[in-house]
Amino acid sequence: LDYPAMDDCIFCQIVAGDIPSRTVYEDDTVLAFLDANPLARGHTLVIPKAHHETMADLPEDVGGDVFAALHELTPAVEAAVDAPASTVAFNNGEEAGQEVPHVHGHIVPRFSDDGGRP
Ligand code: 5GP
Ligand code: ZN
Repeated sequence: LDYPAMDDCIFCQIVAGDIPSRTVYEDDTVLAFLDANPLARGHTLVIPKAHHETMADLPEDVGGDVFAALHELTPAVEAAVDAPASTVAFNNGEEAGQEVPHVHGHIVPRFSDDGGRP
């Protein structure tokens, strides 16, 4: 399958297999992989395979697919690292800390002694 891609987008290059990553989950429209610079063990990113920069650019059905994956993976990621909780978040737009302009949800496992939000 081919997905709308941006040549200089690192997450599109991960989808294409041109940059290696540790896959957590994959289906036709969504890819989940381990964050290369994790805020906690098991920190996972969930992205649409197609290139969409921000929430405003994301078609609702693709957003539904991303949410379905987050819904499925959040408890699985928590269980995998024995975390009692997690922060599930999107940084939307540069000023909000979005460094990679390809929509991605974070699943960050949280622990009682981790000193506050990521
Ligand atoms: P943002 O700040 O845009 O919400 O999050 C981007 C995330 O992508 C960061 O947590 C960063 O560690 C992660 N990241 C950036 N480049 C790569 C990469 O090449 N591979 C992986 N696996 N994660 C990356
Ligand atoms: Zn992209």
